[in-house]
Amino acid sequence: MTSNFVDYVKIHCTSGHGGAGSANLHREKFVPKGGPDGGDGGRGGHIIVRGNAQMWTLLHLRYTRHLKAENGGNGGKSRSTGADGKDITIDVPVGSVIKDENGEFLFEITQDGQQEILMQGGKGGLGNWNFKSPTNQTPRYAQPGLPGKEGFVILELKVLADVGLVGFPNAGKSTLLSVVSSAKPKIANYPFTTLTPNLGIVQYHGFKSFVIADIPGIIEGASQGKGLGHRFLRHIERNSILLFLIPADAEDYLKEYNILLGELRDYNQELLDKDIVVSISKSDLLDDELKQEVKEQFPSDFNIHFFSSVTGEGINELKNILWSKLK
Ligand code: GDP
Ligand code: MG
Repeated sequence: MTSNFVDYVKIHCTSGHGGAGSANLHREKFVPKGGPDGGDGGRGGHIIVRGNAQMWTLLHLRYTRHLKAENGGNGGKSRSTGADGKDITIDVPVGSVIKDENGEFLFEITQDGQQEILMQGGKGGLGNWNFKSPTNQTPRYAQPGLPGKEGFVILELKVLADVGLVGFPNAGKSTLLSVVSSAKPKIANYPFTTLTPNLGIVQYHGFKSFVIADIPGIIEGASQGKGLGHRFLRHIERNSILLFLIPADAEDYLKEYNILLGELRDYNQELLDKDIVVSISKSDLLDDELKQEVKEQFPSDFNIHFFSSVTGEGINELKNILWSKLK
């Protein structure tokens, strides 16, 4: 499968050079040496990074090798200031980490709309009128503009999930992930744990998308020591929904639900603050009558969602439910 998910790009960036100040000497008809009136140069354009919550990948930057912001305009006569160079703004998903070419952390984008100046444009030079003094009425000197910054930057996406799957082994988590997701991000080198979350990007009505994470270790690894789990948790803090999967072939649905809930509580109480969607997976194993019986085992205010990754039953509805809760 060719992946449409990109979580690492390296781009060469140059911010704009500042415009030069002008050294114009204003000449009037009967005054041979008029006053200095050279305007200031404009600043060079910045390279700016901006968080965009509609994005999930750095795919749009995959083929970007170089970005250069515009230079500032030079100052002109009559103290006219040069135009500032246009900034270049790079939109990135929330959760992007920006590093310099040596891999040193610069900043992280954690919010939609957050803007950070990655490379400042060069300052414009001052025009000669700034340098007029009692001892020098006609300075011919004006400052040059300062150069912008230049270098490689690394943009990395720390993938944060929207939906975390919770279920015992064999509940059908991996299978669900494989049928709903269009891309599997490469997450081989997560430094924080030996457990690897299995992530999928769910395309929703074409252009919208969200991330589902099958998180081994919440349940399966619960006995493996909490320290590991807690380190892992930091990275699923964005999981805004937990999707419980209880397989149709479970012996006691409500009991299984309560065990899962208990495991989560032991693991981290805060997890229970998240929105929980309860589903019965492998619904192809149940006919309508059995489904009704399953529903009746739960309190009446429970919304139980049935789906089958094998037949596709309920899959679109499941996506709808998750999407509407995410918004
Ligand atoms: P996980 O351990 O929760 O990731 O579960 P898996 O996705 O690996 O599935 C466990 C088993 O259940 C596998 O043998 C799957 O083929 C089977 N399975 C998964 N989804 C369905 C389903 O919708 N219907 C049926 N009948 N079997 C399923
Ligand atoms: Mg699995």
